[in-house]
Amino acid sequence: MNGRVLVCANPKCRKRFYRPIGKIEKVKMSFCSRSCAASVNNSKFSKRKVKIKKCIYCNKEFKGDSEKYCSRECKDKAQTISKEEI
Ligand SMILES: [Zn+2]
Ligand SMILES: [Zn+2]
Repeated sequence: MNGRVLVCANPKCRKRFYRPIGKIEKVKMSFCSRSCAASVNNSKFSKRKVKIKKCIYCNKEFKGDSEKYCSRECKDKAQTISKEEI
């Protein structure tokens, strides 16, 4: 028997599984199944995707991708001010 018993890196699973040597990936995390790997990778990815930003108009923190303002109201107000200043 050439192999190792590994513990699934999915915290919700933690199943022990046998993996033959040579098939042990050189990664820190090993999973018993593809679905376990996918569930952990997906949760990481979704966490990474959410960014906390600060509204440049009211300084309120909000979650968003590309908008500089927490709401459409702030965007409108900020734009009306810059227009008035001009
Ligand atoms: Zn697992
Ligand atoms: Zn705002």
